[in-house]
Amino acid sequence: MKSLVWFRSDLRIHDNPALKKASTVSDEVHAVYVYSNEQLRTHNEANVKADFLIKNLFSLEGKLNDLNIPLTIVKGSGFEEDAKLILRIAKEREIEKVFCNSEFGEDETNRDHQTLKVLKDSEIEFQSFHDKVIYTPGSLRTGQDKPYSVFTPFKRKWIEHFDMEFLDIDFNYTAKVSTNISSNINSFDFDFNQTHQVDMTNWKEGEEEANKKLEIFLNNKVKDYSKNRNDPIIDGTSRISPYLALGIISPKKCILEALKRNNFEFSSGHIGITKWIDEIVWREFYKNIMFSFPKVGRGMPFQDYSKSIKWRSDESELNAWKTGNTGFPIVDAAMRQLLQEGWMHNRLRMVVAMFFTKNMLHDWRVGEAYFMENLIDGDFSSNNGGWQWSSSTGTDAAPYFRIFNPITQSTNFDKEGLFIKKFIPELKDMDKSIIHNPPTEHRKYCNYPLPILDLKESRLRAIEAFKTAKN
Ligand SMILES: Cc1cc2nc3c(=O)[nH]c(=O)nc-3n(C[C@H](O)[C@H](O)[C@H](O)COP(=O)(O)OP(=O)(O)OC[C@H]3O[C@@H](n4cnc5c(N)ncnc54)[C@H](O)[C@@H]3O)c2cc1C
Repeated sequence: MKSLVWFRSDLRIHDNPALKKASTVSDEVHAVYVYSNEQLRTHNEANVKADFLIKNLFSLEGKLNDLNIPLTIVKGSGFEEDAKLILRIAKEREIEKVFCNSEFGEDETNRDHQTLKVLKDSEIEFQSFHDKVIYTPGSLRTGQDKPYSVFTPFKRKWIEHFDMEFLDIDFNYTAKVSTNISSNINSFDFDFNQTHQVDMTNWKEGEEEANKKLEIFLNNKVKDYSKNRNDPIIDGTSRISPYLALGIISPKKCILEALKRNNFEFSSGHIGITKWIDEIVWREFYKNIMFSFPKVGRGMPFQDYSKSIKWRSDESELNAWKTGNTGFPIVDAAMRQLLQEGWMHNRLRMVVAMFFTKNMLHDWRVGEAYFMENLIDGDFSSNNGGWQWSSSTGTDAAPYFRIFNPITQSTNFDKEGLFIKKFIPELKDMDKSIIHNPPTEHRKYCNYPLPILDLKESRLRAIEAFKTAKN
């Protein structure tokens, strides 16, 4: 029997339920990936993420090749065209079953419904699996049989119902029967133009690299995670997010490896490990929000009242924020980190998002899109969740009057100013006592901009705008 595995954001061999199923039920397995610049554009995917995706496709192709599974890359256009492309390949190759791992999002869900229909009409089986989360999306519900919209009770239920069998992910792949098809990746025209400036040696492609990153983090850093996770100059977090976003490693693998080092305990034992697992659960929480409240995927705020907030729009402020020239060193250092590394530290994502939506009072959707356009780990649900949390429009969001002061955040989390110095060379010789908010004459001397706004006034303006929308 011949089957086809349709790869999407699950670019790995291990703990890949679709590939495992195909390998179990068929002698001959084919693989396909639909590459579409149009789809990447539609979802604001970053140039650096596309670069990482292409590199990972090459790596995946090598691994599949070892199993005699040819990977065919097909040029796609809009999401709605995918079904026809898959049907065409399945028919040409006399495929009986198509397997894939589901993705979150409306375009993706519609695409899969359409694919199911066209394949069914041609008597080809189509089966999908959940690999991005531990529980079937939407299956964890409150006592009132509602989807969760608050993290802590969601996590409690998540732990309560956890079954160690979920982590039974080891599978021994054996090579399949050879096909008469060769992989086309070397001749495929990705039509990719690099516009990002990220040093990709910091983000090496491939499943082995992802596993190595995880292992180094869990062996050396997780013990200090609780202490170090908020300090951006310390490389105290895993930086596994780009690999999770493209499915180069699975969340189950992350949890399994973490639990192995904590006697399989979720709530006791090592505080660094339990805290880190919490973060993986946050990821799952936001995916559930997207699944259960599809409006968030359509640009709507979770909190209805916030639809009437009168957002400001100021092109020069927006450009200052985007390029790291707001005159607030910690905000600017973070925004420059985003452009240089394609990644930003979590604490700083909150700081710059709150500065954008509260002090600047700009629409969170503009910032959300800019992050997606530049993040190597761009993940719609986590990004949307993070932006809606910061702008107090989301589930479990920060109350609107809670507004981070970027100078206080800077003194608390970058005490010595080392992160600022790393990303703002203009300030590299400045003393730590003034670097968080340099005096005007020092700014002039260093050619560093004056603040684009007054923190006190802008804070009051934001509180007023939110209060008016709420009443
Ligand atoms: C405004 C904003 C935008 C964000 N956009 C994204 C995004 O596009 N993609 C993305 O993966 N994360 C996003 N996050 C969440 C978080 O900042 C990143 O997941 C984290 O910084 C990635 O670094 P790490 O892998 O070293 O994380 P670690 O601290 O090592 O955590 C491990 C994993 O847990 C998950 N995780 C950690 N924190 C969060 C969180 N707050 N919400 C959801 N999942 C989390 C990630 O998958 C992460 O890789 C955003 C947060 C904010 C506030």
